[in-house]
Amino acid sequence: MSFSFDIESTAGSARAGVFSTPHGPVETPAFMPVGTLATVKALDPEDLVRMGASMILSNAYHLHLRPGDDVVREMGGLHRFMQWERPILTDSGGFQVFSLAQLRTINEEGVEFQSHIDGSSRFFTPESVMQIERNLGADVIMQFDHVIPGQSDEGTARDASDRSIRWLARCLAEVQRLEAGSGTGEEGSGPREEVSRSNPRNRANRQALFPIVQGGIHAHLRREAAEAIRSMNDWPGFGIGGLSVGEEKDAMYEMLEVVDDALPETHPRYLMGVGFPEDLIEGIRRGVDLFDCVAPTRMGRNGAVFTRDGRLNIKRTEYRTDPKPLDPDCDCAACTRFSRAYIRHLFVSDEILGLRLLSLHNVHFLLSLARGARQSILNGNLEQWSRDWLARYRMTSPQPV
Ligand SMILES: [Zn+2]
Repeated sequence: MSFSFDIESTAGSARAGVFSTPHGPVETPAFMPVGTLATVKALDPEDLVRMGASMILSNAYHLHLRPGDDVVREMGGLHRFMQWERPILTDSGGFQVFSLAQLRTINEEGVEFQSHIDGSSRFFTPESVMQIERNLGADVIMQFDHVIPGQSDEGTARDASDRSIRWLARCLAEVQRLEAGSGTGEEGSGPREEVSRSNPRNRANRQALFPIVQGGIHAHLRREAAEAIRSMNDWPGFGIGGLSVGEEKDAMYEMLEVVDDALPETHPRYLMGVGFPEDLIEGIRRGVDLFDCVAPTRMGRNGAVFTRDGRLNIKRTEYRTDPKPLDPDCDCAACTRFSRAYIRHLFVSDEILGLRLLSLHNVHFLLSLARGARQSILNGNLEQWSRDWLARYRMTSPQPV
């Protein structure tokens, strides 16, 4: 078994664990930096290793459109292509198909949509998306699901959740079909890239398919989805989708509690697309192990900076001669060297280094927040740690971006 999850310690619903993958372990709870297009924007893989990232996320929709998943496969798979030796998770593209693409038509077979890049017509099915994710070769692959707006009514949420479950069965069948045609899948722990390159199909048995629990903000739908999914297969882990998409925070936390009860405690849970500091802490307290969020890099491009004392915007005039680092409590490569005044100067002058330093800091901030939470679970003081952390973070209201 290439994948396993070992829980070292718990605190209420929260867990400190180790998720083992063919490309190494992921200590959880963990924040996964987002490298949608096979790059975490402005950062080099070495930066990510230095700041202790263990697993990163990439995206099937985007890489299928550009450069093409066939190109990535030809280049030896995503790990080799982007020179990232550690674990990778690929999102299936469900979210992008339903949010970015124009003129989509959904039926039971799949989704027809127009590429947001060139308007060309595309058709995704559960089977074709599994083939794309297989070509990319990530360690964890997400099922293709039907994603709906956050506050959808119950009928819409049920329809999408039921369809996602039917599509999950097709994803699983396709993954099994592809694996059956791939030989032994034995790669050993040696130079796997070479093996992958000579026969990319050998990666098959090294991928874990995660189902996605949908159901909007309707507790009984979430519960039913979790039960239906559990009865289908012994999954290596579970995704929780369709949250933090416009609903009230309390509704999201309630859904997390419902799902926490409904999923097996023994398997990792990944809360998709959620990773603002307060959400990360509240998610961990409700049994979530993995998070991802584009916020640290996307907000960095607008000048927004996470700090222990809340969010600040480096563009503001008050930082023009501020000698302090972005966050005096941060030990990232930006904060240990540069002043707010310097980074502000870079930023307002549109210098590339400004963007890079903000990304370095923000990604580091969330990685170390997840590490701090993990340590507090191991120390047995998660509740106190969370309260203190959130109280200080919320003391200053966020500055407008
Ligand atoms: Zn920093």
